Amino acid sequence: MPFQKRVHALLRTMSSRKADALLLTHPLNVTYVTGFSGEDSSLILTRNEVFLVTDGRYREQAEHEAQWLRLVLRKGTMFRALADLFAGLRLKRVIFEADHLTYGDFESLHHSSRTTLLPSHAVVEDLRAVKHPEEIRKIRKALAIAEESLRAVKSRIRTGMRECDLAAMLVYAMRQRGSQKDPFDVIVASGPRSSLPHAKTTTRKISKGDILIVDWGAQYRGYCSDLTRTFFVGNIPYEARHIYRTVLAAQTRAISEIRPGRGGKRIDGAARAVVRKAGYGDNFMHGLGHGIGLAVHERPSLTPSTNTRIRTGTVFTVEPGIYIPGWGGIRIEDVVLATPRGAQKLSALPRTLASAAIAS
Ligand code: ZN
Ligand code: ZN
Repeated sequence: MPFQKRVHALLRTMSSRKADALLLTHPLNVTYVTGFSGEDSSLILTRNEVFLVTDGRYREQAEHEAQWLRLVLRKGTMFRALADLFAGLRLKRVIFEADHLTYGDFESLHHSSRTTLLPSHAVVEDLRAVKHPEEIRKIRKALAIAEESLRAVKSRIRTGMRECDLAAMLVYAMRQRGSQKDPFDVIVASGPRSSLPHAKTTTRKISKGDILIVDWGAQYRGYCSDLTRTFFVGNIPYEARHIYRTVLAAQTRAISEIRPGRGGKRIDGAARAVVRKAGYGDNFMHGLGHGIGLAVHERPSLTPSTNTRIRTGTVFTVEPGIYIPGWGGIRIEDVVLATPRGAQKLSALPRTLASAAIAS
């Protein structure tokens, strides 16, 4: 991974703000810049050196994952150690991550050091939005694990099985295939519960005639996947067919609109127009998608109000849905990579209406 390149990008930010150091406190941002995957550790970049402030629990891991860092093993609190380091290095102006430092932590740092603290927003997150080929490879692998796992459990779905049974089977199948953890709780929402876009899995029994939404993801070497498929248990009613085809058309349309330089709003709007035309404009009440990488939700977001432009190398989900309270919901979610020629789908699980049918 090009860690030096990432450090250099941050040094440029420091120069532009006339700062002599940058403090990173968000664990995933520390991982992104260094390769160190432990927690409870902070990174201080100065013009000459990169310090990892951690404790004894992470010593061996840090030496193994990121030998080039200068390790500072703290004895007391993190903020005491940081203040001491600021003083020892005579740092006058330090940029911090305003979105990842609590007010209490800011106060301790502010009171125990004479350093001027400069807030910053999404400095590392903006770098993370464009993926290196190695990161894309890991996301592909996280997708492949999730897809193979769904294929393995799909044939075992039966009426009478509870939502939580199916969720557990899917999680187990992903772990067997090498998933490190669940990037989010698997959603299995059946029957009328499928109209809740962020449903929690319950003990409801899956029955004949149900719509079944499954939203699941795996994690491979730190990188996440996130997919949704909607199934029908038994015959697919006419309205469900119509809505499924509308959601699929909206997703296909949005994917065809993806180009580097285009705003998230425009791509979201392409999907929304298809849904609106079919008469379900009020039933698609979430954004079209979100970036994915070390975190399951990261930059950019694709919503009616985002102006962020898609760049070559950006990886994100495209997940339109239609939700009708009391009836149910349908969502299809895939992961795409923006290339100079348009979107490349990284997920390959079938999306046809035929693939959505489950015999009861
Ligand atoms: Zn999802
Ligand atoms: Zn998602």
